[in-house]
Amino acid sequence: MIKKFIRKILGVKNKSDAAGNNMEPDVLGSKQHGIDPGLLSNNAIRVTQTLQEAGFKAYVVGGAVRDLLLGVKPKDFDIATDATPEQVKRLFRRAFIIGKRFQIVHVMFGQDLLEVTTFRGPAAVESPKDEHGRVLRDNTFGAHHEDAVRRDFTINAMYYDPATQTVLDFHGGIADIRKKTLRIIGVPEARFREDPVRMLRVVRFAARLQFSIDPATAAPIAVMASLIDNVPSARVFDEMLKLLLSGQALACLRRLRSEGLHHGLLPLLDVVLEQPMGEKFVTLALAATDERVRLGKPVSPGFLFASLLWHQVLEKWTAYQAAGENTIPALHLAADDVLDTQSDKLAIQRKIGSDMRDIWAMQPRFERRSGKTPYKLLEHPRLRAAYDFLLLRCASGEIDAEIGEWWTSFMAADGNERELLLAAKPRTAAAAGGVKKRSASRGGRGRKKVGEGIESAQ
Ligand code: ATP
Ligand code: MG
Repeated sequence: MIKKFIRKILGVKNKSDAAGNNMEPDVLGSKQHGIDPGLLSNNAIRVTQTLQEAGFKAYVVGGAVRDLLLGVKPKDFDIATDATPEQVKRLFRRAFIIGKRFQIVHVMFGQDLLEVTTFRGPAAVESPKDEHGRVLRDNTFGAHHEDAVRRDFTINAMYYDPATQTVLDFHGGIADIRKKTLRIIGVPEARFREDPVRMLRVVRFAARLQFSIDPATAAPIAVMASLIDNVPSARVFDEMLKLLLSGQALACLRRLRSEGLHHGLLPLLDVVLEQPMGEKFVTLALAATDERVRLGKPVSPGFLFASLLWHQVLEKWTAYQAAGENTIPALHLAADDVLDTQSDKLAIQRKIGSDMRDIWAMQPRFERRSGKTPYKLLEHPRLRAAYDFLLLRCASGEIDAEIGEWWTSFMAADGNERELLLAAKPRTAAAAGGVKKRSASRGGRGRKKVGEGIESAQ
């Protein structure tokens, strides 16, 4: 800061490299940045200290610094260093080099994992790209300022040294934190082309942090959104999962909509947000998920994706039944169709896919409230998730609320009470919307009939 001040007086600009990137950061002391050292994990301090004592540079970097500046305890700590992966590995007892192309080191302390990354250099002009300009490989080590310039947003490109309690800011990240602004580093079009996932990231951060998106950063997104289609589906899936599990999934989706980004960015969302009925269901599912995340409760990706895709399943289920299939086989066919289409685009992992199938397949079984079926359901390992799903169907108006209430009572009841509830079934079964509607839909009225169910229940 003092250096910068002297330069200013002398009219000397910050040193820049050939590409015009800042080579010298603003350096802020603890009074200026105000980070509470108590928010740092001991292990982050341990790693930076060990590296520094061995003569290397080492900083906490990225999202953790951003969160520290916002006064939030970071959920994980990434470390950046000028030591090579081999040099890092030698300094820690439990350290593992991972990644083939660009190697990083996982340093473990008990359950705690820290990612240590060697400063990365810029993607060389000749580095391989796909036909749309997406960089396929950039795996060169680089200088500190080069590492900063290849990060995504100014607020994600700051470095914190726990030993001196200083923040190094190469791209005006501190100013943007104060202005609550997300600004991409460099030329927005070029950065989104290099890696289209950054478009999803900007929306996720904007919604999660309640920041605005700098107009120059936001402008090209609408026209470039379709580039996401060329990103490997496993990466889109990971980013999508981060968005959905951010605790602000609803806000993220609203943001995607208000930015005009709900088309093409996430194939899944096109399906979900386009149907008014589906939207009600999805909104409820995401609100419940956000609540769980905020309370620190576990969230099952299977449940989440089963919810997001339910109305697509429902539509196909109705169509198969209208074509003469019986209820259960029709549901399995619908589930197969939906999972096949989505796994091409989203790379839904096998385990998640099988959880989704279970949750869907149990739904018609909730409607059979006689004989041994309800007792068998009680023993199903996925009962809880499937029951929560049933309640969402009730709350969205898809089926009669009575069926959910009956199951709530049945699950809480003891042996005698359960028999009584089953005996009361003739009245309740007749009132159960799902059964009636679907048998009616076999008569060819299909999807429309389900829609009517929603309207009347709202
Ligand atoms: P979160 O709190 O969600 O983890 P984060 O900023 O830490 O947010 P990560 O995905 O963990 O996000 O990435 C760590 C850092 O790596 C980022 O802060 C950013 O500096 C850099 N980074 C991540 N993804 C990209 C990308 N697609 N392009 C450029 N830099 C990236
Ligand atoms: Mg992170």
